[in-house]
Amino acid sequence: MFGLMQERPLLISDLIEHAARHHGDVEIVSRRVEGDIHRTTYAEAAQRARQLAHALDAMGLAAGERVATLAWNGYRHFEMYFGVSGSGRVLHTINPRLIPDQIAWIVNHAEDRVLAFDMTFWPIVKAIHDKCPTVQRWVALCDDAHLARMTAEGSIPNLISYEGWIAAHPTTYDWPRFSDETASSMCYTSGTTGHPKAALYSHKSTILHAYAAALPDVMCLSARDCVLPVVPMFHVNAWGIPYSAAAVGCKLVFPGAQLDGKSVYELLDAERVTMAAGVPTVWQMLLTHMGTHGLKLPHLQRTVIGGSACPPAMIQAFREQYGVEVLHAWGMTELSPLGTLCTLKNKHLALPEEEQMKIRLKQGRAIFGIDMKIVGPDGQELPWDGKSQGELMVRGPWVIRDYYRSDKPSPLVDGWFPTGDVATIDPDGYMQITDRSKDVIKSGGEWISSIDVENIAMAHPAVLMAACIGVKHPKWDERPIVVVVKKPGQEVTREELLAFYEGKLAKWQIPDDVVFVDAIPLGATGKMQKMKLREMLGDYRLPGL
Ligand code: ADP
Repeated sequence: MFGLMQERPLLISDLIEHAARHHGDVEIVSRRVEGDIHRTTYAEAAQRARQLAHALDAMGLAAGERVATLAWNGYRHFEMYFGVSGSGRVLHTINPRLIPDQIAWIVNHAEDRVLAFDMTFWPIVKAIHDKCPTVQRWVALCDDAHLARMTAEGSIPNLISYEGWIAAHPTTYDWPRFSDETASSMCYTSGTTGHPKAALYSHKSTILHAYAAALPDVMCLSARDCVLPVVPMFHVNAWGIPYSAAAVGCKLVFPGAQLDGKSVYELLDAERVTMAAGVPTVWQMLLTHMGTHGLKLPHLQRTVIGGSACPPAMIQAFREQYGVEVLHAWGMTELSPLGTLCTLKNKHLALPEEEQMKIRLKQGRAIFGIDMKIVGPDGQELPWDGKSQGELMVRGPWVIRDYYRSDKPSPLVDGWFPTGDVATIDPDGYMQITDRSKDVIKSGGEWISSIDVENIAMAHPAVLMAACIGVKHPKWDERPIVVVVKKPGQEVTREELLAFYEGKLAKWQIPDDVVFVDAIPLGATGKMQKMKLREMLGDYRLPGL
């Protein structure tokens, strides 16, 4: 017997219409590449999303065609999230930090028809436009005057300005209704090995994720919040924040191209941001800026930190010096991206601070909708004892079942997506990532967590960044070393840092050596690139070998 409830598909156009109707006057503030601070509202964003939908119709773009963006977090990008997907096309957000050849490969693989870009990325567009035959229209996210200035020294065919493109179209639009299984947006993983692979999200998966992300034990978003996503809209839809924001009607602040500590601080402060989200490297810059200038953030209540493991020292600094709660989150492109988030349970509230901290460091509990388990090398499920380590597998309505246009079989194993992360799960369901399976260090048959080694180094006052990698060893197979960038003006020696590990790790887990470098290579999403680091240290030999 079926229920007797209405069959209304869960569509992305409904989100922006809801925001316009119920939160129409709520502000969307953007730092623009034009150099100014721009202010708009949900009502105006909805009007412009509808104009964009008309513009796509007018060019005869069929449902399901891909519209790509190379853009920072900003109000035009936000409108595209709704105008493109809402009208039945697929929004393809591209990571502009990839090299131009990779971007061209991605555009061709996705067969993008339109590519909209921030003026910052004009050099990329010039480099790739004649290698991307499917693109019929290049759209600069600016007005005609800025377009003229940008192209003063030469243009390319089929280039128009976004403002010129949408201006003449009506601000009302009849959004099409279709199955919510329809594709809505896509994102390629950074592809540390081989070609990038794309997750293709649907309207349903996006909206279920938007509900889930807003829950109190997840990002706890409400109409009383002012949210600044530092996490880019070109990487897994800024962790879904634009969609959840439209659902709850919170104020939005977009940082544009300026992601340094000073610029992010200025926006957090001036716009009275209550919640911010980003990867640890961004927050490191913010903390350094605030520490150097003795600044505070009285309005900021919480930050969601994920994408790579959040060092305990960062959680502590935010809590103790600034009164900001850090919510540690874990996710992946393949999971839209949220999988787990760390908040305490009622029974933890009476625990002493150090005990609470041990929990906060974990990546957290599964969000309802995500089912998870850990398995051993034989595929057998391992116990949730907080000790057994195995590969983390997940399933749920916002987890991929396959990659877009992949020539390989589906990655699923008995319906579960293998994450490539090694984790433990404790009896309360708190998952902790110990490593990515390719980064874990295998020494004498035992596993050493590179994250543990890095976290300890990061707690040293002179250390700005630390990466632990395994180096071949004739007896132990691999031994860990820690590669360190010192904070400007601070000193620490190899011996001092190694001594700092004593008592914090078992002897055999302590790194064999410390290598000081000026910089650790960061990937397109701000994560440390250990493959590159290994290449950089190609001639390195362990002491005594
Ligand atoms: P890519 O796989 O291309 O780096 P993703 O953004 O999808 O791009 O990265 C997902 C991976 O990032 C996860 O599989 C995990 O290894 C890592 N990750 C994400 N969040 C965390 C976290 N809080 N702690 C540790 N690792 C994390």
